[in-house]
Amino acid sequence: MSRPSPQSNKIQIVIVGGGAAGLELATRLGKRYGRKRHDIILVDRNRTHIWKPLLHEVATGSLDANMDEVGYRSHCHRWGYRYFYGVLAGIDRAGRQVHLAPVQDDTGREVIAAHSIRYDYLVLAYGSVTNDFETPGVAENCTFLDSRAQADRFRDRLLDQCLRVSRTMTADPVSDAHVRVAIVGGGATGVELSAELFNAAAALGYYGLEVFDRSRLEVTLIEAGPRILPALPERLAEAARRELEVLGVRVLTNTPVTASDAEGMTTGSGARIDADLQVWAAGVKAAPVAGGLNGLEMSRSGQIVVDPTLQSPTDARIFAIGDCALCVLPGRDRPVPPRAQAAHQMATAVFGNLNRLMDGQPLRPFVYKDHGSLVSLSRFSTVGTLMGNLVGGKLAIEGRLARIVYLSLYRMHLITIHGWLKGVALIVVGHVNKIVRPKLKLH
Ligand SMILES: Cc1cc2nc3c(=O)[nH]c(=O)nc-3n(C[C@H](O)[C@H](O)[C@H](O)COP(=O)(O)OP(=O)(O)OC[C@H]3O[C@@H](n4cnc5c(N)ncnc54)[C@H](O)[C@@H]3O)c2cc1C
Repeated sequence: MSRPSPQSNKIQIVIVGGGAAGLELATRLGKRYGRKRHDIILVDRNRTHIWKPLLHEVATGSLDANMDEVGYRSHCHRWGYRYFYGVLAGIDRAGRQVHLAPVQDDTGREVIAAHSIRYDYLVLAYGSVTNDFETPGVAENCTFLDSRAQADRFRDRLLDQCLRVSRTMTADPVSDAHVRVAIVGGGATGVELSAELFNAAAALGYYGLEVFDRSRLEVTLIEAGPRILPALPERLAEAARRELEVLGVRVLTNTPVTASDAEGMTTGSGARIDADLQVWAAGVKAAPVAGGLNGLEMSRSGQIVVDPTLQSPTDARIFAIGDCALCVLPGRDRPVPPRAQAAHQMATAVFGNLNRLMDGQPLRPFVYKDHGSLVSLSRFSTVGTLMGNLVGGKLAIEGRLARIVYLSLYRMHLITIHGWLKGVALIVVGHVNKIVRPKLKLH
């Protein structure tokens, strides 16, 4: 069944994926064209949006996702776009339709039947998922941090394990019980999660687990390459490693993990790393689409290949932005990286190009500006680089300044999706919440 727009003479722009890239684009298009001139439709498989770089804080309980998530339905009402709850199941390029799979509730009962939505222009922004490189046992035994549901599940298991250890120590004060967490991937996600776990463990003492403290946490960060944080200069990566080791993280480099089972992991040398909780954060790949994308040019890793205008070379009516797009800009040998700042910039570029299309003007190529890369070691430290004319090229930064710049990326996202007034109000409320609310989400 096809669902035409209420007034079919309007141009219909469909965006699939309301994440860092898609929600910003839907907000801006809705504000400019929504309700009156054109029909802007956002499709997402979830009912709410949470900015993905916050997921490691959700996973440790340092952040209560209920406070930071955005409900699509109320958001679309305010910004003038329409929202459809559904999972992309394929596209029909000739008929210009996106197909959505049926939505079922947790008992298997159908909520929304399979249906299609017509588009004049389609923007694919459905992100990426963790790549386990088909390592045996990883899908069954490791947690991925791709969604709020996964982060919530990890937090529940973490709290249960802390409780177990706490009970054991109450019964036997000289017990050697520990919460053992193994994290694969020494990139930003693995490093940030490792530090955040120690922040959370310190806070648990306030909330009834009197016998639990940081010394009961055993975190092993495992990286196959020669060093952690390969995107950062060696000096900063070394500083981050030292900081992690001071916290108590065991950092293993040159250690490929070859298998995972219910008790832990096996490395390339045959060594065992026993763990109560295992997290896999070693790279991303494009999220699979069940019914395929009807012949769109794709990379080997499943990303949608795009031209510098961010249109598919196969079909100029289709744009792709964010992690699901593979964009190699002229003169560059590497694609635009799968990062939140790239998602934000791509959303801005496609907003401009859709405006030009409406006005019958030629499209402009996307220009990616790498503003640097920052990694937060929770409240303990922040390290990274800033790039740009203002700092005269590449500047390594650490500490408070780095923390402020790190937080500014999320603040920019808040202001883009809520507007200046509400965005700034939410930033202030965020600060107040840090003072008045519990340090950890414990349920
Ligand atoms: C723990 C963690 C920490 C990170 N930290 C940083 C950081 O510090 N700095 C940084 O720059 N980047 C960071 N990243 C990467 C950053 O989050 C991504 O690059 C960014 O979110 C990509 O934006 P996106 O819009 O392409 O995808 P997403 O933000 O993932 O959004 C994709 C959206 O598509 C929806 N969707 C997916 N499949 C379907 C489907 N089939 N049908 C309908 N909807 C669908 C999803 O529900 C989601 O809303 C981090 C990532 C993680 C996981």
